[in-house]
Amino acid sequence: MNEEIVVEATNVAKSYKEVTALKDFSLRVSRGQRCVLLGPNGAGKSTFLNLVLGVLRVDRGSIAIFGETPGHLSVRRRTGAMLQISGIPSTLTVREHLRLFRTYYQDPVPTDELIRIARLEGLDRRTFGSLSGGQQQRLNFALALCGNPQLVVLDEPSTSHDVEARMALWDEVDQFTGTERTLLLATHNLQEAERLGDRILIFHDGQVIADASPEKLRSLIGTTEISAQTNVSVEAFERYKQVKRIEHVDSHLRLYVTEAEPVVSLLLQLDPDLKNLAVKPASLQDAYLHLLSPARINEHTLANV
Ligand code: ADP
Ligand code: MG
Repeated sequence: MNEEIVVEATNVAKSYKEVTALKDFSLRVSRGQRCVLLGPNGAGKSTFLNLVLGVLRVDRGSIAIFGETPGHLSVRRRTGAMLQISGIPSTLTVREHLRLFRTYYQDPVPTDELIRIARLEGLDRRTFGSLSGGQQQRLNFALALCGNPQLVVLDEPSTSHDVEARMALWDEVDQFTGTERTLLLATHNLQEAERLGDRILIFHDGQVIADASPEKLRSLIGTTEISAQTNVSVEAFERYKQVKRIEHVDSHLRLYVTEAEPVVSLLLQLDPDLKNLAVKPASLQDAYLHLLSPARINEHTLANV
């Protein structure tokens, strides 16, 4: 199969003086993949995106984008980015920014289309400096898409958004990316990861501790969460292979399982007086917290989940 490799990072390390931001990081992304870089603050996500864009340079290892050096003109023409720190002039209006950015590209998206996609209607004569945080982020999003890029790089694109704007942004990213464009998106929002990622890379302390589809990550922890108020002893469940994780805090019990019925039945047998029994699908959040728990990180086996 001749799939195009869009991003190829090999044994990349990056430090800022005494702070190690990326340890030994390798990643290969094919055309059309939607990768979400998920992880807590300080995990190294933005550092990686800045290396991809050629804003920073690696200390060790190598990165190629479309087979070229990051920052190369031919790469820049095919890449659209929205970073956490934008530094764009505050005195130009929304429309002026879009017009200016469009001149950098050979096949830019029409200005009115950008205004629609980023929901900036009615704001096009306002200066950047007069916009709210969320509106500024929307303009940055429009500027990222402006050049009709093959590779879209978004660093926490919805942090200043209200719920409605965030969901609209997800729809637009989804539609724009389609199946042909490649997405690299950093976030610590699990819903955002679940909505937009077909490949989730969990960053922790300068390393990727898991790299898999959202479904695969969820299945790590079992597909179903059973919860109840009970003082039952959890030992009975530890022997069950269907039970992947047990949390028992005060009298609140949560079991993550691959098959609900036999476990619910055992639970009711052990404690017929339990309260608030609930059975629901496990979320990516559950898997994420499970993966980031110190016991799991020490296993060092997660990159191959
Ligand atoms: P994330 O985007 O996952 O929150 P970053 O890549 O921004 O993580 O940061 C990774 C680590 O590098 C953190 O410990 C952060 O404090 C540090 N760091 C990032 N940028 C700088 C900088 N310009 N100077 C010094 N340390 C930095
Ligand atoms: Mg960041």
